[in-house]
Amino acid sequence: PAAGAAREPGPRLGPLARLAPEPMKVVLNWGRRYSLWVFNFGLACCAIEFIAASMSRHDFIRLGVIPFAPGPRQADLMVVSGTVTDKMAPAVKRLYEQMPEPKYVISFGACSNCGGPYWDSYAVTKGVDQIVPVDVYVPGCPPRPEALLQGILALQQKIADESVPERYAPPAAGTDGR
Ligand code: SF4
Repeated sequence: PAAGAAREPGPRLGPLARLAPEPMKVVLNWGRRYSLWVFNFGLACCAIEFIAASMSRHDFIRLGVIPFAPGPRQADLMVVSGTVTDKMAPAVKRLYEQMPEPKYVISFGACSNCGGPYWDSYAVTKGVDQIVPVDVYVPGCPPRPEALLQGILALQQKIADESVPERYAPPAAGTDGR
């Protein structure tokens, strides 16, 4: 789906992170990728698969994902799982804005990726990326828990490769900031 929401530049970049030589970047990113407090924004059937992924069989805690943050202000990662209706979209955006930087979003399932089976509904937002920036898309209707694990691994790789100063830099003119 077409990108819509741009990531806003974060204001909190400490002097340590700003200097961030390569070894420091490795340590910072290692810590961030394996301590992802997750905020599950469950909106429909896909949320059940998310819950399954957190249980003992699939156990995403072993990947460094910690269920569940008490709220968005304590979360690093928001997983949007289910159908985002136009009525719910402002709440998704509001809670995303309450998360502290650095923050990440996984769009889990066809509905949150692009509207899914409700792609022609007047009441459904055709992709959560129209309201918040998405880091990883997990396809499926519903995706299996293993697909979420794969999405988490993809996100962790993205975090490992991330330059902290670049993440906090203002988006270049004419780009969507991602
Ligand atoms: Fe339900 Fe399919 Fe939409 Fe997931 S993608 S919320 S399983 S309809």
